Amino acid sequence: MADQTRRERLLTFLLLPAIVVAVLVLAGVMFRSSFQLEKLREQSVVEATLLLANEKADRLDKNIIDQDNAVRSTVDVNDRTSFGARWLESAAIQTPTVRAVFLIDLSAPGRDVVAVASRAPGPENERFRRLCVEFMLNEMKIDLPPYDQLRHLHTAYRGQSYLVSHWQSEVHGRRYLTVVWHDVPRIVHDLFPALYTDIQQSRMNVSDADGRIVFGKPLARTGPVLGRQFETTLYKWSVNVSMASSEELAQAVQRRRVLEMVLVALSSLVVISGLIVIVVAAAQERRLANLKSDFVANVSHELKTPLSLVRMFSELLQSGRVESDDKRRQYLQIIVGESERLAALIENVLDFAKVERGRQAYHFEQGNLAEVVARAVDVCRLRAEREHVEIALELGAELPPVRLDERAIEIAVINLVDNAMKYAPDGDRVDVVVRANATSVEVRVLDRGPGIVPEDRKRIFERFVRGKGTQAKQVRGSGIGLALVKHIAEAHGGRAWVEANAPRGSVFVLSVAR
Ligand code: ADP
Repeated sequence: MADQTRRERLLTFLLLPAIVVAVLVLAGVMFRSSFQLEKLREQSVVEATLLLANEKADRLDKNIIDQDNAVRSTVDVNDRTSFGARWLESAAIQTPTVRAVFLIDLSAPGRDVVAVASRAPGPENERFRRLCVEFMLNEMKIDLPPYDQLRHLHTAYRGQSYLVSHWQSEVHGRRYLTVVWHDVPRIVHDLFPALYTDIQQSRMNVSDADGRIVFGKPLARTGPVLGRQFETTLYKWSVNVSMASSEELAQAVQRRRVLEMVLVALSSLVVISGLIVIVVAAAQERRLANLKSDFVANVSHELKTPLSLVRMFSELLQSGRVESDDKRRQYLQIIVGESERLAALIENVLDFAKVERGRQAYHFEQGNLAEVVARAVDVCRLRAEREHVEIALELGAELPPVRLDERAIEIAVINLVDNAMKYAPDGDRVDVVVRANATSVEVRVLDRGPGIVPEDRKRIFERFVRGKGTQAKQVRGSGIGLALVKHIAEAHGGRAWVEANAPRGSVFVLSVAR
């Protein structure tokens, strides 16, 4: 017993809270890690988009620089007359965005253009030359070493964008500057579309320093947009890439999070309800175990008492010391009565055992309930007379025949009448009424005993359960009689229940389906 309570205490105060805490911790960890995983996934999408933007920007830089290098390898700084002749031969193919190449003598005081090679000669070249010498030269930082390095100037004059590549070379001690004039509108209209064929136009565009779009369309503002300046060439502009899937991603993340939360909540619920079921089952099991041990004690006691009475009076008779015939008859009556009780009890226990094991087999036949009840009442009469109780039997008129197992009904009625006499000893009358209604035929056993408290009215029909106050009054019993009555009633398509009798006592009812 001490062992059991220690185990129970361990279960209630340590194990169960520990399991609940573990479940909560697990749920928390799961939720957090799923949250972090989503963050990581989001991060990786951001990184991928950034990579894409970088790659797009680098692609343009590389193309321009390749063209610059092509120019550099073909122009002849040493010979002003044939300065760009070789370049022009392959210019259209190799350097499609280069309009013209200028050579400026940096050592001359005027720092002017000394040679020009242009794919389209015209007044535009002259205008550019002036722009270059008067303004751009100042922006080019030509006095910064290393002089021969390829550099770029991205600038704007009167709302027009210019890109020039330039480098210096030394010829016979003089410094020359080669200026490559890239055609920006051409870059925008021809080069950008050619370079960026692999990405949807709605996902990227190119904007200038003021955020005006110079290439592409406004991006669908569904989520974050990553912008990256062109590093080397058109460095005043930037390429912008939108995370096309950012909204879908957010939705998917949200959906998954809700799903995971539901899963976590469900599994926690399952675990917690499982725990509750276990606790309730354990409590029930404990209660049943207690009831069973009470039952064993009660049955043993019930067997022992009549047996010792039978033995005592038999021994008295055997000794021949009982002189009067009256006394002998009285003793014999006690012996018969007690053996009957013993037999009834054993029959009850055996029947109950069969019910418990699901082995109880009923043999139904069409029969007359009134006859069976009358027979059962007769069985009880002997004891009733002994205890000075009158049993009144009232059979309703025109009782219909019902399907019944005679022996089972007899046992049920004996149990009810027996209880009425046992628990209502002060009353001198027990009424047994059989009457029919629309759906069933009822056997009602009325006593004028103490009655049943409302909270016990259902419980007492459970196996091993004995009513409140029964123990206190020292009434012998095993707690299986009413469980058996209930089983028998239900096997007959009916019910067993108890009502209050007026002004006192109870009415036990057993109904049989008609
Ligand atoms: P037992 O009589 O062996 O205890 P039962 O199943 O026949 O077992 O009855 C269960 C309980 O119902 C009894 O312990 C008693 O408390 C209560 N009971 C049964 N019949 C009556 C009655 N006629 N009057 C008062 N209480 C009753």
